[in-house]
Amino acid sequence: MQFWFFFIFLFSTSCGKFKASDHKKGIGGRQFNSTDAVFNEYIINFEKHAIRLGLGSGFKVGDIPINFGDAKGHSAICISYQNGQHEVLIDRSAWKIVKNREIIVFHELGHCKLELDHDDHKLKLANGSFKTSVMNSQLLSWRLYLFNDYNEGFLQDLFLKDRSLIVKEMTALPPNTLEFFLKSAHQKP
Ligand SMILES: [Zn+2]
Repeated sequence: MQFWFFFIFLFSTSCGKFKASDHKKGIGGRQFNSTDAVFNEYIINFEKHAIRLGLGSGFKVGDIPINFGDAKGHSAICISYQNGQHEVLIDRSAWKIVKNREIIVFHELGHCKLELDHDDHKLKLANGSFKTSVMNSQLLSWRLYLFNDYNEGFLQDLFLKDRSLIVKEMTALPPNTLEFFLKSAHQKP
């Protein structure tokens, strides 16, 4: 039996010892067929935002089980099998320490459900560079994600592939506020 894997190993600057989330492909059956109830609230929110942003009134995450498991050194992974099945495995230790868990689940569903690749675009401003996507290969700072209306900007980037709102809002912020985010991006979540 042949196995092939696709890994991009990148260390996260915002998640301590854990590597960034990743997307893995391989042959074989998935480990779980149902989702751990812990993740239900995040799935419901993902669906709610998708519907609100126009991805269809019947939008469902569907058959993508999310469970704690061996994330191969990453905080979480989306595994897409060649038989068409998907699953998300989340490292239990990473889950315990991360400040905003929605970022992890939404990132993996971005891979597994929305079929997105990583988006490492950064907005370059006078005082630093700032991640503009939940799909950045290194976990997004929870401070950035939750600040003011940024959450909406990041959600529009994720679901609509439209970063114009987050770019507009970041560009409008005073430099000292942006410097605060730049520092916090290198702390543990
Ligand atoms: Zn990823």
